[in-house]
Order: sequence, then structure tokens, then C-alpha cells
Amino acid sequence: MAEKRWIAETLFDDLGFRMSYQVDNVLYEMQTEHQHLVLFEHPFFGKMLMLDGATQITKRDEFIYQEMMSHVPLFAHGQARDVLIIGGGDCGIAEEVLKHKSLKSVVQVEIDESVVEFSKEHFPEFTKPVFRDKRFESVIADGMKYVAETERRFDVIIVDSTDPQGPGAILFTREFYAACKRCMAAGGVMVTQNGVPFFQPDELISSVGMFKSLFADGACYVAAIPTYVGGHMAMGWAAKDKKLRQHPVRTIAARYKKAGSFKTRYWTPEVHVAAFALPRFIAEHVRAAKKR
Ligand code: SAM
Repeated sequence: MAEKRWIAETLFDDLGFRMSYQVDNVLYEMQTEHQHLVLFEHPFFGKMLMLDGATQITKRDEFIYQEMMSHVPLFAHGQARDVLIIGGGDCGIAEEVLKHKSLKSVVQVEIDESVVEFSKEHFPEFTKPVFRDKRFESVIADGMKYVAETERRFDVIIVDSTDPQGPGAILFTREFYAACKRCMAAGGVMVTQNGVPFFQPDELISSVGMFKSLFADGACYVAAIPTYVGGHMAMGWAAKDKKLRQHPVRTIAARYKKAGSFKTRYWTPEVHVAAFALPRFIAEHVRAAKKR
């Protein structure tokens, strides 16, 4: 019997370790204009997408990240109408965001058309409801260029990007965050994919430092995602209103009820509020993040 192929996540090679995944079946593999893309079937995690050797999404644990990147900023804001998603080409975030029926528009700006096109074939559970929704608009462009030029204003900005390498590097810069502030409506909030603090502390400290100097409030919240190895995943928080991060459970619960209490598997009003209670070592990173 042929030897099973194993695919390694090489994101932490510089730290001297790799996660390897047994491959049942490679569904899609190509070098796109922007990055190396491989989609394969894993015996436990199901479909797994890797870009440039970094795990992006698995069928088994995607709900944790997608729900926390979507419902935390939307229920914290409470009156959002217009949402901007930077990256997110698999449409998993858009699918969660569109569960908020009070939203008027959701714009997704993804740099790599291949990711969106192959997601239509391989992640129909996300792309079908999303592309059927008249409020959704898919833009293929560099997120940096879009936020620097758009005339539109957004209540919530969700940066579902790759890591700060290749096309994603620009999305971790002051220039990008300042341009996001420019197209953010008054009282708005931005959340960012900000790495795993245990292995990537500098990424978090750098982003939060820029958030603190550009916005009224700069911080992060956390969730544990099995295939984003390293314990807590940090989601960056940059808001024009300090109060958005201070709502008690009863306020979030009331907003969830008003939104129809749609089904979730990770996010709850209690988990929402608890996610901002940071373990001391992460809180110290956030405290150490000097305005820059
Ligand atoms: N949740 C995943 C994670 O945490 O690693 C990210 C998922 S999503 C697939 C990341 C997307 O960001 C990719 O499709 C990638 O093409 C897109 N991306 C990277 N750089 C970008 C840029 N400058 N502008 C817009 N999209 C970008």
C-alpha cells in the first residue's frame, strides 16, 4: 500500500517545529499569482486549506475563528449597517456576518481571485449562501489599495488575512491601519487576525501599539483554535469608541436576542465578554505595546 503523504505547516520553522498533517486526498494544489495554495482531505479535520505553508481553515474547527471574528465586533457595536472584510476569500467570515439581518451591506476585498473561485467549488456551505445574498459584494483587490481609495464608510472592519508574509505583510502596517481608520465610520471598530501570542508576541505588540496611537482604544481578545497551534489566538481590537469593549453580558445577550438568537457553536454572550479577560502574559504584551 502506497505511503500516505504528510503536509507540514512551515509557519514556525524559525522556532524549530512543524505540525504535519496526514493527507487522505489532495483536492487542489497550485501556485497562484500571489501564493502557494493546497487544499486536502485530512482524516480528522476534514478539508484543510493551507496558503504558503500556513493553515488557513479546516472544516472541523473553522467555526471558532469565524464566529469570534464576526459576532464579537458586530454585537459590541450594536448598530452596524455596513461591514468591510479584508481577505476572507473562503467566505467563512462573510457567511457568519450575513447572519446579522440588520446589516445593509457587506463588502469583501480579497487579493487572490483563485481563493474565491476554488472556494465556490470546495466550500459551497460558505459561498452559496453568501453569493446568494444581495447585500454581499465581492471585490478582487489589494486590501491596502481599497482602504486607501474607497469613498465608502464602514461601521465594522474585519481583517481576515494571512500572516505578515507575502501579500499579507502590508496588512500589518501603520499605513494600512491608518487607511482603515480613514474609511471607518464614527463609533466604528476594526478586528484583525493577529497571530498566536505564545509564538508570535511581536506581531501582537506591534499591531496593538499602532492601534493605541491611531484609535481611541487598542487591545485584543482571544480564542483557542486547535489548528492555529500555540494556545490562544489573538484577535486585534481597534475602536473609535472605548465603550464598545466594556458592554456587560446582559447587553450583549439582549442584542443577540434582538438579532434572532441564530445558531452558534462557540460564540455566546458570556464567551464574548470573557474573551477580553486576557491571560497575564498576553495582557502584559498589550500593556507593553507602546503607541507607535
Ligand atoms: N483565517 C485565516 C488565518 O487566520 O490565517 C485566514 C483565512 S483567509 C483565506 C486569508 C486571505 O487573505 C487569503 O485568501 C489571502 O489571499 C488574503 N490576503 C492576503 N493578503 C491580502 C491583501 N493584501 N489584500 C486582500 N486580501 C489578502
